[in-house]
Amino acid sequence: MLSIENLHAGIEGKKILKGINLEIKPGEVHAIMGPNGSGKSTLASVLAGRPEYEVTQGKVEFLGKDLLELSPEKRAGEGLFLAFQYPIEIAGLSTTHFIKTSVNEVRKYRGQQPLDAVSFLKMMKEKMALVNIEKTLLSRSLNEGFSGGEKKRNEIFQMAMLEPRLAILDETDSGLDIDAIRIVSNGVNALRSKDNAVLLVTHYQRLLDYIVPDFVHVLYNGQIVKSGPKELAYELEERGYDFIKSEFPAME
Ligand code: ADP
Ligand code: MG
Ligand code: MG
Repeated sequence: MLSIENLHAGIEGKKILKGINLEIKPGEVHAIMGPNGSGKSTLASVLAGRPEYEVTQGKVEFLGKDLLELSPEKRAGEGLFLAFQYPIEIAGLSTTHFIKTSVNEVRKYRGQQPLDAVSFLKMMKEKMALVNIEKTLLSRSLNEGFSGGEKKRNEIFQMAMLEPRLAILDETDSGLDIDAIRIVSNGVNALRSKDNAVLLVTHYQRLLDYIVPDFVHVLYNGQIVKSGPKELAYELEERGYDFIKSEFPAME
C-alpha cells in the first residue's frame, strides 16, 4: 500500500530525514515513536505534501502511484488522509459544508456522483455516533474557536467521513487527555479493516494501549533505527529512549 524507499528530506537546507525505509500493507497499523526532534512530524508532513519540505532523495509509492508527484488534493483523492491537512479556521464556512465538499471532491476524483442529501445525512449520523460529536459543533464555522478536544473530534470525524485507505495521524503528547485518546482510538479502530491501514505517529505510549499496532518503529535522528512488534512500545516506555541513543552514539 505504502512503500517508502530511502527517503531523504529537509527544510531550509537542514537535513532531517536521512534514509527512511518503510513498507505498509493493507490491514496493518504501524506506530512511529521516537525522541523529540527525531523527524516524526517531518515524515508526516512530507507524506502530506506540505510544500515547505524538500525531498532530496528517495521514493514513495502509494497504491502503485508515485506519491511525491501528486498534489495534496490528489493524495486525498487516492485515499490518503492526514489529520492536519486542514488546520485552518474559516469564518463563515460551516464544518458540515466543508466536510460535504471534501467528501464530494474525493468522490469526484474517483469518478463517483456526489452524495445526495439523504445519503449524506445518513452517513453523517453514523459517523457522528462513532466519534460522539455534537451537531452544534458541525454547524459552527470550521475550527473557529474550537477547543483542543473539539478540534480533535472534528479531525477524526473528517477521517471517518472520508473513509481513507491509509490514515496518517501525527499525535503529539500535548493535549491528549483521556477524552482525546478515546476519540482518536475509536476513530482509528473503526477504520481498521483488511483493506485499510494506519500510520500513527506518537510520542505517547499510552495511546498504544487503545490502538494496538501491528508494528512499532523507532525514528531517531532521521532514520528508523529499530522496528518490532507492539511489545517494543512497552520496552520503550520502560527504558526510555536513552538506550536507543546509547546504541547509536555517533548519531547524537
Ligand atoms: P519530531 O516530530 O520527531 O519531534 P520534527 O520532525 O518536528 O521532529 O523535527 C525534526 C527536526 O527538524 C528538529 O530538529 C526540528 O527542529 C527541525 N525542524 C522541523 N520543522 C522545522 C522548520 N519548519 N524549520 C526548521 N527546522 C525544523
Ligand atoms: Mg517534536
Ligand atoms: Mg512531532
